[in-house]
Amino acid sequence: MPELPEMESLRRLLDEPVAAHPILQAGPAHVATLKTFDPPLRVLDGQRLAGAERRGKRLFFPTEDGKLVLVVHLMSAGRLKWLKPGEAGPKKPAFRLAFEGGAQLVMTEAGSKKRAGVWLLTPEAAAEEVAHLGPEALGLGPERLAEIVHGESRRLHALLRNQHLIAGIGRAWANEILHAAKLSPYALSSDLDDEEVARLAAAIDSELARGLELREAGASDEKTYRVHRRLGEPCHLCGTPLAQVDFEEHTIFYCPTCQTGGRVLKDRRLSRLLR
Ligand SMILES: [Zn+2]
Repeated sequence: MPELPEMESLRRLLDEPVAAHPILQAGPAHVATLKTFDPPLRVLDGQRLAGAERRGKRLFFPTEDGKLVLVVHLMSAGRLKWLKPGEAGPKKPAFRLAFEGGAQLVMTEAGSKKRAGVWLLTPEAAAEEVAHLGPEALGLGPERLAEIVHGESRRLHALLRNQHLIAGIGRAWANEILHAAKLSPYALSSDLDDEEVARLAAAIDSELARGLELREAGASDEKTYRVHRRLGEPCHLCGTPLAQVDFEEHTIFYCPTCQTGGRVLKDRRLSRLLR
């Protein structure tokens, strides 16, 4: 599940190489992956990209002439890979950009559901596509975060993942951040005091920066996540076995000692009717 650290490390990786050569051929693209049809992808053939930009979890590849932007959103199962000249790629990528000189940018998506997307837009339409996003998570700071958490009352795990409020955090980094902040995933945002907000702001920065550094170095999920998908493993701070709780369509991981005062959270799918 690519989130801010993964997408930002990709952006840094791709920024120079995508601009090094003009595009030889844009596409093919899976019919469900390409979300726009006008202008057609082939207008990119022969054009040069200016580099890679990022907003939230999306990557933007503007053309050098400033007239078009290729927008990529990997959702949860999409993956983007840079292939050097001659390097073997997937047989049926969901999307492909072939560059002069032989390098390729390919997107794949695991599973049968095609949710990841590619859009070819004008800069205005691309800006509109991300107009709903909240401020970038990395570097948010305690004052801005205080406004967000006290603006409405939400469970912290859901609040962190709400892209309208804060852009760039998903399920995995919400788990990592809340553990680092020693806050319950179910705590209500409106209940946080100043000290807790400051702790959460610091954890957002330190965890996303840690993730970015690791991902830039090519670290695997196993090496990157300390809480996410580590059910039963000892908490790296206190040694308590990490717990999980199913919440609607996903699973939250947490440390009962560090985050919930020893309480084990109830499965919300079972208790939903009681709310
Ligand atoms: Zn712990």
